[in-house]
Amino acid sequence: MLEVDNVSISYGKTSAVSDVSLTVEEGEIVGIIGPNGAGKTTLLDAISGFKGYEGSIRFGGEEIRGLTEQEIVQRGLVYCTEDRDLFPFFSVHENLLMGAQFREDRDAVQEDLEFVYDLFPRLDERRDQHAETMSGGEQQMLAVGRSLMSDPDLLMLDEPTLGLAPVIIEDIKEAIERLSDAGLTILLAEQNSTFALDHAERLCLLERGEITRQGDAETLKNDDYVRDAYIGVV
Ligand code: ATP
Repeated sequence: MLEVDNVSISYGKTSAVSDVSLTVEEGEIVGIIGPNGAGKTTLLDAISGFKGYEGSIRFGGEEIRGLTEQEIVQRGLVYCTEDRDLFPFFSVHENLLMGAQFREDRDAVQEDLEFVYDLFPRLDERRDQHAETMSGGEQQMLAVGRSLMSDPDLLMLDEPTLGLAPVIIEDIKEAIERLSDAGLTILLAEQNSTFALDHAERLCLLERGEITRQGDAETLKNDDYVRDAYIGVV
């Protein structure tokens, strides 16, 4: 579904990601793990069309270079950023509808709205509340919900649980599991690997802009280097 081949990304003369290759197959959860500053966000930014890159990124067989962010979303590749990018003075309901702004099938949008409210009952209870007045965890639910309203085939999540209260992390984990069970393909980046280590089928370890380990999750969890560097600190 997604093929990233020999991708390098720089900020001016500073290299942030070098020669990264990875694939995501339909229905999989793939985790990109690695420390702060490793280049995870930069890589997701490029895949979603926010940032230029060298190399090749194909989604559904089509190179994404040159497509606008809207075109990428309309092809089914949706990015839920670490900053969440909510509209602070809009209500929960309005924020969710913003996620569906490029869709024309109103019946399908209505069905997805009901699905999101069922997935996150806290959003249902707060339909009219302004996004800025929600807790960090609720805002994260809203950001995921809004991404779902764009009708993704592949959902990219950057740090979906970072800094959230444990009880909210559980709700978000459950929601992601439910989405995965329903067949959604997920690529997520995590510094603390909370979700990725337990739920991803495959993991890529990104360090200083390079993939230093890549493979099925079980193998990586038993890899001495990964265990010493990452699992001990979870
Ligand atoms: P974090 O989890 O802290 O977001 P990350 O793995 O997502 O870390 P990136 O945010 O992608 O890492 O950063 C990768 C490298 O690129 C870092 O060295 C960072 O300082 C640098 N970088 C990120 N954004 C910019 C920018 N706008 N201008 C210059 N350098 C940047």
